[in-house]
Amino acid sequence: MTNVPAHVITTDAQGAQGFLNFEAAAAASAVNAPDVLEEPGDPLQERIKTAADDYQLQMQAYALALRELLPANVPLPSLRATLHFIDPNVEVAVAAVLLDRGACVDAIDDAMNTIAALDGTLDADQFPPLPATHCRMCNFQDLCPAGREWLRGQ
Ligand code: SF4
Repeated sequence: MTNVPAHVITTDAQGAQGFLNFEAAAAASAVNAPDVLEEPGDPLQERIKTAADDYQLQMQAYALALRELLPANVPLPSLRATLHFIDPNVEVAVAAVLLDRGACVDAIDDAMNTIAALDGTLDADQFPPLPATHCRMCNFQDLCPAGREWLRGQ
């Protein structure tokens, strides 16, 4: 399993940098590299791009939270966000245009609307368990026969 620390860096008017490290929060919420990094079928760069894309909305949520939570008297002329894939050691920057306040708001609104449109009709069959190494850290093993069976076979 590959941890993915998420960093959002701000630069004030004097060039000083602020650095928010979400690694602890990521660990607490079991945010780890999607197992796409462990799928050997595709070229590594493609797997990294897919994994980074999977984190895009999360990074936009961090960026928006930062904009919302910073006191009004703290300037925020620039903001960048990077994902660090520890294994392999690769850094992926989130495109600046995606960190714009409006882009973040739109992306989160779209996600919320998509979820709301499901109207409580989520069908578990649409989300079959996909047992893999991530099961070792899963908090839902007790509820997941597929995951427990996979773990027994390891
Ligand atoms: S134990 Fe089940 S729910 Fe948990 S990660 Fe594995 S397959 Fe998914």
